[in-house]
Amino acid sequence: MPWEAPMSDAPRSLFELQRRFPDEAACAAWLTTARWPEGFVCPGCGHAKGWALETKAFTYECTSCHRQTSVTAGTVMHGSKLPLHVWFWAAYLMATHSNGISALQLQKQLGLGSYKSAWLLSHKLRRAMVAPERAPLAGLVEVDETEIPLRTKDDPPAGGGGRSHQGKLLVAGAVEVQGGKPGRLRLAAITDYSSDSLHAFIGADLAAGSTAKTDGWPGYPGAPDVIHQPHVIGSMAAHIVLPWIHRVFANLKTWALGVYHGLRRPHLQSYLNEFVFRFNRRQTRHAAFKSLLAIAHATKPLTYKMLIEPEPTA
Ligand SMILES: [Zn+2]
Repeated sequence: MPWEAPMSDAPRSLFELQRRFPDEAACAAWLTTARWPEGFVCPGCGHAKGWALETKAFTYECTSCHRQTSVTAGTVMHGSKLPLHVWFWAAYLMATHSNGISALQLQKQLGLGSYKSAWLLSHKLRRAMVAPERAPLAGLVEVDETEIPLRTKDDPPAGGGGRSHQGKLLVAGAVEVQGGKPGRLRLAAITDYSSDSLHAFIGADLAAGSTAKTDGWPGYPGAPDVIHQPHVIGSMAAHIVLPWIHRVFANLKTWALGVYHGLRRPHLQSYLNEFVFRFNRRQTRHAAFKSLLAIAHATKPLTYKMLIEPEPTA
């Protein structure tokens, strides 16, 4: 159910955010317009007329089938004990903060009672950072893979050489190159550097007919539906042949250490999605607030159990 978020003028500061969304009614009004830009439509029977209930906040009753629909029904916000304006503030902080914000920081900034509710809030919003109908990358695309140190409670990040991936998180990355500049990015957690893993990544994230430019790693040739452009090189020169994906990987590692003190395996894909969301909206950070709320509004509710299970890579 794709829709355009209203609000062409996204708030550009916390002051503006507070002025635009001072209370629950203002947030609900925005969500109502976002959900039903042409006016209420009953999700049950499709009837286009409903009453706003006076007895239930932000809920409409269909005049035909009398089904009652909350403005947050079926969205990631539904069933949350947190007020809507807390969701709006959290979305604003997560979307506009140049490096993102940890659950602990969110808890402090928003004065939330428990770390768990801050964690849930930030993970639900992080899940909303992948638009359900986003288009795959196209044209010339740099594709590469990397490993980032794993954060665990007991084990220090594995040092030393060798080919063991123990203590490392493996990531495949692809970035469009348009006119010598980076376009959109995708990152995926992978289990190994085999052609099965890399072909699956390319199949999911690159449009048919696009050109995959790689460093010539043997896992890439034969990827279906793309033109493969290998540049076989020594590892020292990889950043020259694939400058943009290398820059992305360097920034990813700095970010993971800076904001989260390293990433953990179970939620790796969620954090990669956050990095991608931020990267792809780097020119339009304030509008990113809108798109985060819009996706949150189009994304189904998530339970704590769903969130603590690893996210499938897609
Ligand atoms: Zn109805």
